[in-house]
Amino acid sequence: NQPLHELDPAIAAALDAELERQQSTLEMIASENFAPVAVMEAQGSVATNKYAEGYPGRRYYGGCEHVDVAEQIAIDRVKELFGAEYANVQPHSGASANQAALFALAQPGDTILGLDLAHGGHLTHGMRLNFSGKQFNVVAYHVDTATGLVDMAELERLAKEHRPKVIIAGWSAYPRRLDFAEFRRIADEVEAYLWVDMAHFAGLVAAGLHPNPVEYADVVTSTTHKTLGGPRGGIILAKQAFAKKLNSSVFPGFQGGPLEHVIAAKAVSFKVAASEEFKERQRRTVEGAQILAARLTATDAREAGVNVLSGGTDVHLILVDLRASELDGQQAEDRLHEVGITVNRNAVPNDPRPPMVTSGLRIGTPALATRGFTAEDFTEVADVIAETLKAPSPFGTADAAALKARVKALADKHPLYPGL
Ligand code: PLP
Repeated sequence: NQPLHELDPAIAAALDAELERQQSTLEMIASENFAPVAVMEAQGSVATNKYAEGYPGRRYYGGCEHVDVAEQIAIDRVKELFGAEYANVQPHSGASANQAALFALAQPGDTILGLDLAHGGHLTHGMRLNFSGKQFNVVAYHVDTATGLVDMAELERLAKEHRPKVIIAGWSAYPRRLDFAEFRRIADEVEAYLWVDMAHFAGLVAAGLHPNPVEYADVVTSTTHKTLGGPRGGIILAKQAFAKKLNSSVFPGFQGGPLEHVIAAKAVSFKVAASEEFKERQRRTVEGAQILAARLTATDAREAGVNVLSGGTDVHLILVDLRASELDGQQAEDRLHEVGITVNRNAVPNDPRPPMVTSGLRIGTPALATRGFTAEDFTEVADVIAETLKAPSPFGTADAAALKARVKALADKHPLYPGL
């Protein structure tokens, strides 16, 4: 029972350094967040020791009486949170949830219709090296490059032409809301299942700030660690008619023993997500992203070739288009890293540069909103980002030092995990 620092100083040092990094920099990767201490406590609990193959009340192992309680609470809370008839809280990750969902709805070789990866879709929506692209016949829809919005006319045309088994609505990099009613209409027209992957915007849905896909889709998947702010993991929600198929697709289809410690942590995060404090935080998240979009568009950053795709955002992220800038995505990411802001480079639709370089950035506000950032703070963040991106090359050490000091002042104003 030695503490980590004694038993394994090398790992303890790496984790201490990671805590320090999270505390001292501004985390703006759109898919990241800071889980509450109580969530991490549940995730670091003795439930990690327990085998519990099966579902609450129907396990293949003894001694499951307590993890049954925690898993049933997680199921009940998430059903209530999203108004779902059915929930499975066992998927180890978003990708695992998607794999289980897709194989419950379709057979290998069937046609699926998803948003192109290069236009904001996710790997599991049909990328050629992913299970979805290898085992299914993939047809991709796109965004209209003039407006940056999903081209619903193309979606309908492709659906009628290819008659997919499943239509996938969801994204990893898209700053606007999807029209779920229209997706449903098109799916019904071609007798396809509608699967919505709300991994990114689930927190906004829980807070009532985004249309709820559960009302429209046959199956909805999500991660629990992005806007939802819980432990890393996945969930599946659905109409009751799909319950049996989905349960057996998760276990024994793709997984063995569920991660009961993570499931306990998911339950805690669903409780948090039902609170007023969470709603207020999600409002600041969207407001922060809208401030970023507005400041980057209004300031002279625009003259330096920094544009915001679709002209703004309805969600927790913005997509910066650097095609007219002297910086590529990699250089812009590196510059922001230098001043203490963490973002990820991201392809823009029809990107002229390769995927490892790109011509864009994806910038998100969930983690900073969790940290307590206000509209005023987000305005200062936006100005630091604009000044960093518009500074002429080479990026001088004097510029970087002044901007870094402004980042540090913001980080100090909102301490993260004090006492850890
Ligand atoms: N679905 C979407 C839309 C995502 O953006 C992501 C992650 O980025 C996933 C699924 C996969 O989640 P995970 O990384 O937990 O497998």
